[in-house]
Order: sequence, then structure tokens, then C-alpha cells
Amino acid sequence: MIWETVIGLEVHVELATRTKIFCACSTAFGGEPNTRCCPVCTGMPGTLPVLNRRAVELAVKAGLGLDCAITRHSRFDRKNYFYPDLPKAYQISQLYLPIARDGTVEISSPAGRKAVRIRELHLEEDAGKLTHDPAAGVSRVDYNRCGVPLIEIVTEPDLRGAEEAVACLEALREILRYLGVSGCKMQEGSLRCDVNLSVRPAGSGALGPRTEMKNLGSFRAVARAVEYEARRQAALLEGGGRVARETRRWDEERNVSLPMRAKEEARDYRYFPEPDLPPVELAEEYLDRLRAAQPELARAKRARYQADYGLGEYDCRMLTSDPALARFFEALAALGTPAKQGANWIMGEVLGALSQRGIEPGEMKLTPPTLARLIALVEAGTLNRNTAVKVFEAVFDTDGDVDAFVAAHGLEQVSDGGLIREAAVRALEANPRSVEDYRGGKARAFGFLVGQVMRQLGGKADPRTVNAVLRELLDGGGGPARTGA
Ligand code: ADP
Ligand code: ZN
Ligand code: MG
Repeated sequence: MIWETVIGLEVHVELATRTKIFCACSTAFGGEPNTRCCPVCTGMPGTLPVLNRRAVELAVKAGLGLDCAITRHSRFDRKNYFYPDLPKAYQISQLYLPIARDGTVEISSPAGRKAVRIRELHLEEDAGKLTHDPAAGVSRVDYNRCGVPLIEIVTEPDLRGAEEAVACLEALREILRYLGVSGCKMQEGSLRCDVNLSVRPAGSGALGPRTEMKNLGSFRAVARAVEYEARRQAALLEGGGRVARETRRWDEERNVSLPMRAKEEARDYRYFPEPDLPPVELAEEYLDRLRAAQPELARAKRARYQADYGLGEYDCRMLTSDPALARFFEALAALGTPAKQGANWIMGEVLGALSQRGIEPGEMKLTPPTLARLIALVEAGTLNRNTAVKVFEAVFDTDGDVDAFVAAHGLEQVSDGGLIREAAVRALEANPRSVEDYRGGKARAFGFLVGQVMRQLGGKADPRTVNAVLRELLDGGGGPARTGA
């Protein structure tokens, strides 16, 4: 039997607000346990929540970015459950009137492009963090994360396998980062996802019974978990068994999914309208203002870069992979740097330097005018490419002055044809064997001779001129003895 994997994602994203959703505590990641809490976010009796305006704004921006219909009149509901990570014993969430619904996200995977439907996007508060220490026989709880604003994005079961599931997460992350809605750092838990998965005979239109997998800490874990779970379910069904409707935990060390608990239904949570918060009313003018302020998203940028700059799809994808990187590229272009040169420097040197240092494009000191100046010097023939790379390394960390560095180190390129010719003649005289080899058909000897000329000129010569001069001396009938005369 050929099985088709069907997946729907529930993605939790921490919003990039400074303070929590119902109190003024900091949302900063980490910190000494239980130092970023107050009576509100630890659920002390008698406290009242006050909704963070910025959290609503970011949720709306996310909804708009996913082409959702925004709910003008939404409200919060109480989801009751007892677990030590939730000191109030209920989570304030949205069940009946989520802030946004009916959207789409376009994904692109090896299977092609496709639109994945977003069922809804709702606002809720995060819970605290439990750390189990089996050796000491204790569990510890940190409430710093308790009350951090979250949106939960629920897709329809439109995904068909690991690649599409990962592509969907990548697309969501890209959009939310461009919008400034969230940093979406999976390693810090600011983007987390639950995978709902079922299998069905290929060609069947019906949905099979599904499981929900939690605790997926990386895109890689998502891909592995999907593959494992799809195989497990298919084997169960082929053996005549049934797939139990349950919540499973992905064990990242052992690469297996394990049963965690039977799936709860909405009624198990005894949802009811949150009495301590008024409904949220969004004015049409407010939505218009947010719509007008939406930045250009990566997909639109890619199309524009192809049309306006004539860049290939790969280049466009790389340049828009991060909003700060795209801004950097656009600033370079605005400074007059030829697009292809700018793109090459960003994808080569800039990304290389960033990954070497383990920093994000947004954290980089180098500014567009500095790189633009460096590229201009190469274009003008003042610096050769190799020297320019050295200058780049020297100015990258501090956004140093390119001209000052070039002058201080005497790096201007030698493009004086006379000087290069003299050096070439000397090189040929000093290496008669290579000249013979070259004339005998050994192409490698030519590269050696180029290197010799470069060495004489301190590596600063324009390589094109060196090549041309050498070819002329060697192929033009001139040998070392005669040209040297
Ligand atoms: P519940 O109300 O039990 O949480 P939902 O209908 O809200 O279930 O769906 C939750 C998530 O599970 C959604 O992302 C949805 O796309 C996905 N889902 C629902 N049914 C299936 C299925 N049979 N196979 C895979 N995913 C599914
Ligand atoms: Zn608080
Ligand atoms: Mg649901």
C-alpha cells in the first residue's frame, strides 16, 4: 500500500513585545529563574490582567501578513487546566473568537509552490517552564516565561510530508521576522510547533485518525519526527492495527515519538469567556493604519529584485533570507553599487564573515556605505579583488574607514602597464623552465608565471592586465631574451 502523509501544524510564536501580555514584567529571554514575575503573571488572587496594546498590534500584523480576515470584535476565553507551569490554573486564550482567521501562507518545497490554508490565529499567554531533574528526584519551575504573549497559528491539514512541513515553518518564520512580530528563534523557544499527523492510502480523500506530536526543538527535529511518525502509523495500519488519537512526545535523543497522554477535547478544558478582560474592538481606521504600515515581505522583494535588478532566483532568495540582509542590499544598490556586485559581496564575504563569527545580519557593524566604497574601489581598478577581500576583513568588525586603511597599507592596485610589463619580463627571465613548459603545451605553467608576476608586485596588480601582458609576451613570439633586451 502507498501511504500519503497528511499534516496540520499548530505553531506558537512569542511576540516581540517588551513587556508581558497582561502585566509590565519583562519578556527578555533567560534571566535568573523567577525574577521576571509579579503577582499578575504568577496568578495571585485579587490581581487583574490589563491587555498589552502592542501584543494586539503584533497579532493583527501577523494576521494581515498571512492574508487573514481580522476579527473586528474578538475576546478572550479561559482554558482551565492544572499543571505546575501555570500558577493561575487557567490560561487566557481565544477559543470562540480568534483575532484572525482564514488566511494562507505560500510555501515552496522540492514538490513546488503551494498555498497552505491558515485556519486561525489567536492570542494567548505563555506558561512557565518546568525542568525535571530525575537524579535529584525534583522538578523546578521558572515563571519568567509565564505571561509572555503568544500567537498560535493553526493550519488546515494541507501539508503532505516532512519537506512541506519544514517549508511551511520556514515561510511562517520569514513572514513573522519581516513584520517584526517575533524573532522566531526555535533554539530559544520563541517559535514552537506541534505536528498533527495522519496517514491515508494515496488517492483517498478522507482524513485518517491523527496523533499530535509535541516538543519539536528544531526544523530538523520536525522533519525526523514526521518521517518517523508516518512510518509508525503506516506500519500499524498495515498490521491491521488502529492509530490511537493521542498526544505524543518527540524524543530528540532517541529519534522516536512516545505516547504522552490521550488527546484532550475542548470540553476537557471547561472553556468559558474570560470575565476579567473586556472584548477587543478594532476600529476600521486602526486596521487601515496597520495595513498601510505593513512592510514589503520577502516574497514581494524577491519578485522585485528579479524584475528591477535582473538577479537570478537563487540570489534573490539568499538576499531576502533575512530582513536586515535585504535592507543592507537595498541600501548598497541605492548608493550606486551594481546589483550583481553587491549581491556577490553579500552572499560571499558578508555571509561568510557572519557565519564565521556566529552573528546575525541585524547585529553586524559593517554599514552599506563602507562596503559600497570598497566595491567602488574594485570597480575603478584601484584595488584588486584579493586585496579588497583583505580590506573587507580588516574593516568588517568595526565598520572601519576603507580609504584610510588602503592608504595606510599602500594597497592601491598596480594598473600601470609599464610596471606590470617590467615585472613580467623579470619573471620570464627568472623562470626559463616554465616558459619552455608553457610553450610545450603545459597550461599549468602559465598560472605559475602569473603568480610570480603578482609576487613581484606585492599581490596588488590587476590580474587582468597581468594575464594580458604575459600572454602577449609568451604568445606574441617574444621570449625572455628578446623582450628583455
Ligand atoms: P482539535 O480541535 O482537536 O485541536 P483541530 O480540528 O483544531 O483539532 O485541528 C488541530 C490541527 O490538527 C490543525 O492544524 C489541523 O489541520 C490538524 N488536523 C486535523 N485533522 C487532521 C488529520 N486527520 N490529519 C492531520 N492533521 C489534522
Ligand atoms: Zn508580571
Ligand atoms: Mg484545535
